[in-house]
Amino acid sequence: MSNTIPATLIPGDGIGPEIVDATLAALDALHAPFDWDRQIAGLGGIQAAGDPLPAATLDSIRRTRLALKGPLETPSGGGYRSSNVRLREEFQLYANLRPARTIIPGGRFDKIDLVVVRENLEGLYIGHEYYIPIDDDPRAVAMATGINTRAGSRRLLEFAFEHAVATGRKKVSIVHKANIMKALTGIFLETGIDLYERKYKGRFELETVIIDACAMKLVINPWQFDMLVTTNLFGDILSDLVAGLVGGLGMTPGANIGADAAIFEAVHGSAPDIAGKGIANPIALMLAAAMMLDHCKLPELAARLRKAIDETLNLDKVRTGDLGGTASTAAFTKALVSRI
Ligand code: NAD
Repeated sequence: MSNTIPATLIPGDGIGPEIVDATLAALDALHAPFDWDRQIAGLGGIQAAGDPLPAATLDSIRRTRLALKGPLETPSGGGYRSSNVRLREEFQLYANLRPARTIIPGGRFDKIDLVVVRENLEGLYIGHEYYIPIDDDPRAVAMATGINTRAGSRRLLEFAFEHAVATGRKKVSIVHKANIMKALTGIFLETGIDLYERKYKGRFELETVIIDACAMKLVINPWQFDMLVTTNLFGDILSDLVAGLVGGLGMTPGANIGADAAIFEAVHGSAPDIAGKGIANPIALMLAAAMMLDHCKLPELAARLRKAIDETLNLDKVRTGDLGGTASTAAFTKALVSRI
């Protein structure tokens, strides 16, 4: 087929297939030109192929370089590594982009419009951990090594700064802890300031904030921030904090973007407690699909999808249970599709 965009679709586990179906209904209503290659991963992958990330799924993403993914369960025990971490490493998905925007007005934090850009491959997340035995205690000392490289910091910061310029962000805050972890997070801070001075000065305002102060400021006055860019562990924590400002994980999409591929997903997990009941909120995955449309240079379709979500929630007042409503996934999706 010409003029279609090949893309891998991973329905995932738990509520994954339900929210993926809902999202596909919205994308079909928009006539989004994706040519889907359906693949399995997570528990489904283990059951069918003995691997949470089967070779056919990796091959598909290698070919399409683009994926929409439902949440994946990694069983604890059994020696399986997290599929999400493996996907990041395999495709060098070095940037994790998590926008958070208030969609339902009138909450505790109104009119939030923030984006967190997290370095996704380095830092304390690399999992180099050791114990040192002393006397009869085999785990007397625990050690973890973090690695941040100048090249890795630079490519993430460059991605963030380019994104800030492209999306008209006025201010970028580099979040760090270079007062204490002078080398590990200092290299990120120093690389960011240097890159800004050389290439981005005047295109937006740059500030630097220490992680602990940043957490406090986000709760007291989140409107002072526009884009936060930070290292892996701090980004992991701050992006959940920011998701909490706009109504929780059910409303927050995420993109993992790298040199070789881009994978779009909801921030939440497979919600096994409500799986199969038809009550899951599909908005986070729909917003991830909107990010995917933006990524594929289809911003008009992305804007129409976001507008339809806004209108369904706020004009039609159709909401799923997690948002205080009574709509099923199917009823919400039907109302949304009629708004497209
Ligand atoms: P979770 O996000 O699945 O669920 C937390 C709570 O939020 C549950 O009460 C759930 O019902 C609710 N919830 C989540 N999404 C919802 C939605 N769309 N609509 C309505 N309610 C929703 O977190 P968890 O229970 O800690 O994790 C379950 C599984 O998901 C674990 O196996 C975990 O490893 C996996 N997980 C996967 C990803 C991913 O693939 N990106 C991310 C996080 C967790």
